[in-house]
Amino acid sequence: MTQMKGAHFKLVLTQDGWQRNLSAHFAPDGTISALTCDDNPEGLPVYDAPVVPGITDLHSHAFQYAMAGLSEVRRNPVDSFWSWRDIMYFFALTLSPEDVQAIAARLYLSLLKGGYTGIVEFHYLHNDLDGTPYARPEELSLAIFEAAQMTGLELTHLPVFYAHSNFGGLPPTDGQRRFIQGIDGYAAMLDALNGPAAQAGHILGIAPHSLRAVTPEEVAQLMAIRDDLLPGCPVHIHVAEQVKEVDEALAYNGRRPVEQLFDMAPVDAAWCLIHATHLSDDEVQMIARSGATVGLCPMTEANLGDGIFRAKDYLAEGGVFGIGSDSNIATFAAQELQQLEYSQRLRDRQRNVLARADQPHVAANLWTRAAQGGARAAGRPEQGIAVGGMASFVTLTSPEPASMGPVADTSALDFHMFAGRGFHVGDVVVRGRAVVQDGHHPQEDAILAQYAVAMGRVTERLATRNGDGRMGG
Ligand SMILES: [Zn+2]
Repeated sequence: MTQMKGAHFKLVLTQDGWQRNLSAHFAPDGTISALTCDDNPEGLPVYDAPVVPGITDLHSHAFQYAMAGLSEVRRNPVDSFWSWRDIMYFFALTLSPEDVQAIAARLYLSLLKGGYTGIVEFHYLHNDLDGTPYARPEELSLAIFEAAQMTGLELTHLPVFYAHSNFGGLPPTDGQRRFIQGIDGYAAMLDALNGPAAQAGHILGIAPHSLRAVTPEEVAQLMAIRDDLLPGCPVHIHVAEQVKEVDEALAYNGRRPVEQLFDMAPVDAAWCLIHATHLSDDEVQMIARSGATVGLCPMTEANLGDGIFRAKDYLAEGGVFGIGSDSNIATFAAQELQQLEYSQRLRDRQRNVLARADQPHVAANLWTRAAQGGARAAGRPEQGIAVGGMASFVTLTSPEPASMGPVADTSALDFHMFAGRGFHVGDVVVRGRAVVQDGHHPQEDAILAQYAVAMGRVTERLATRNGDGRMGG
């Protein structure tokens, strides 16, 4: 994939709304160096279909893509996040490094075709099946690197620190044995990943898994490691996803999870709080004022029965958000944003909730904000079709807008997100490189073939372990 010098857009969503006939010039680092409204005098490659900025998927556990659809059978009087988590742990104890690489590559291919140009991988699978570290402890992180390089999706990699099973530093369970590390082992792994990440253009960050899995003392130690190895790098943490988690936090020391987090860490714009579903009024304001991004995963949150994020209140406070595919049951950015808007409509019994006075189109408002928040959470330059922004964009292929005449100009994303005609994109450019052209990725056949082989292995292993019929029907 060669670096493009620029592109000419017939119709493009910029920070200032939709514009026609815009020529963009790209710098060697894949950012936009100039934008001019003209008739393409230099003969740059032309994009006829509507162009929108690519979105960075700010939260993914890649391996879970391969178990999507296998946990939709009721096995308890009341199934919940927690019974789903048992299945996920069982599945995680099945995968080899080759499987993880093949699954991640398959997922990343789908994400590129779903409107994403970057990914933040929240990576907590570290150890071998029996819980001992691999000969290279960073083995599974390197499998993720390989998947990103094979697909061209821009990677921010967050090795996760995971040490306990609940508040108060309780010992981990046997099912968590592939996730567990000591502080020193964690620091050594980050150090080992630093060189390969820099060489491949990946960004490294830090991720305390959650307040359940990491003590306040360990958060302080992680901050010291960050200052030492990766100053200013992104920090992501799961927080306040489930009511049970909020109740347990309150029982532990009388403070809600987000309050506890702000008590123990200097939360700022480099931070991303994943989910933050259950917030008090004070917590909504605390996060919005800190400049941190909230990482919303609307399809996964709906699938797991987490609850509804207070998006209307949070955006009214000026809060920053992005979207993540999390459990990877959905791989389309527009589907995540549609679910985000619909949850607010169902709760408030209103329509067009997440719009603004200066951007009344819900889809354009959500898309541009999610693109900006995702880039911030990934530690990347500002995203958006603007000088200094990343030259990462996608074309919308929904067939309908073209037939709608003048309405189409400002409604292309409305159709893409809300008209139920599919969320597919045609061309994908990542940092000035054409990664997908006309819906086709050059490595597609190889990626699908290695995924099929990996799924053969996984299915066999599951069949021998699946005495209690835990997976699927
Ligand atoms: Zn997650």
